[in-house]
Amino acid sequence: MSAEDAEIVLLPGDGIGPEVGAAAVRLLEALGGTHVTEHPIGGASIDAHGTALTDEVLAACRAADAVLLCAVGGPKWDTTDPDAPRPEQGLLGLRKGMGLFANLRPVRPSAALLDASPLKRDRIEGTDLLVVRELTGGIYFGDSGRDGERAHDDCAYTVEEVTRIGRVAFSAAASRPGGDTGAAKVTSVDKANVLETSRLWRETVESVAADEFAEIPLEHLLVDNAAMQLVSRPADFDVILTENLFGDILSDEAAMLTGSLGMLPSASLGKDGPGLFEPVHGSAPDIAGQGMANPLATFLSVALMLRHGLERHQGAARVEQAVDAVLERGLRTADLSGGDGTREVGTDEMTEAVLAAL
Ligand code: NAD
Repeated sequence: MSAEDAEIVLLPGDGIGPEVGAAAVRLLEALGGTHVTEHPIGGASIDAHGTALTDEVLAACRAADAVLLCAVGGPKWDTTDPDAPRPEQGLLGLRKGMGLFANLRPVRPSAALLDASPLKRDRIEGTDLLVVRELTGGIYFGDSGRDGERAHDDCAYTVEEVTRIGRVAFSAAASRPGGDTGAAKVTSVDKANVLETSRLWRETVESVAADEFAEIPLEHLLVDNAAMQLVSRPADFDVILTENLFGDILSDEAAMLTGSLGMLPSASLGKDGPGLFEPVHGSAPDIAGQGMANPLATFLSVALMLRHGLERHQGAARVEQAVDAVLERGLRTADLSGGDGTREVGTDEMTEAVLAAL
């Protein structure tokens, strides 16, 4: 280990988590420049310590340069007892404890997997977009309650909350291909024709753009229209900036464009501290321990970590290109649709192939 090595906390978690986590360690070793420390989270932490996230592990995460989380949960810890610890409390505790307010989900279908998308190839070709979702405000965190036959969930946003997520989106646009020439645009999604929070959102995004990112093109879309455009012309989007509830729905809609859960990475970022990088999929208990988990979503999460957590843009591109290369060669884990010219491989062989392609 050298003094310049970035400190990475790896949280393998449960189910296939340790399998894809071990593959990620091999990738990080091959890339160099990081020092990895492993800690338990989720069910593994409940078994060892009686809680899904210990104070020590949270402290280690906060002190790291970046955190890579694989997956938590599984039938072993499913319970209807409201007092029993649950694996996903580990995730929520991390988000809160690390102050993560921005969720980034890139959607970039690999050329070799275009036919796995539920959309026609000519619609999806060229799609390379990033959904930037506000994670800690809006209707999920407002006052809620029930009064007899009436229930309510309040939605609120402040200028400060919109400003900080706006900055994440514009900065991401600036670092994308074409971003420095102003070609990568931000599409801000709201419901400003109906909602007051959306009008505040739109005004604030406008002013962040004017004051700090005048070179980045900005457009606004109403959320209903955005949902439609996302499937009719996905390749026209660069960065989609939106609030918590709309982002929850649109990021899953966008994720389906790739046609495979085993390929999707995500990042959650805070103000100054380390980011949390994780595959979108869960712990896949149905295939755990069989050596058949797809490690590519975790590898692409490492790429996100290099780009958004460690400012190592070249390393990120190397990982993404290596993933594309093995798919071009026809290698597929069992979750990816096969077909002519493809060959099914397990986690190890897929990992070896990506390392060789680096
Ligand atoms: P899941 O994502 O674990 O699995 C859904 C399906 O996709 C399964 O058939 C699984 O085998 C397959 N799959 C997922 N990832 C794969 C991969 N990398 N390679 C190959 N196949 C893969 O979702 P689920 O079955 O709804 O949930 C299982 C457990 O995971 C639950 O306990 C759930 O709470 C938890 N979960 C955790 C996270 C997280 O840690 N962020 C996210 C979602 C679900």
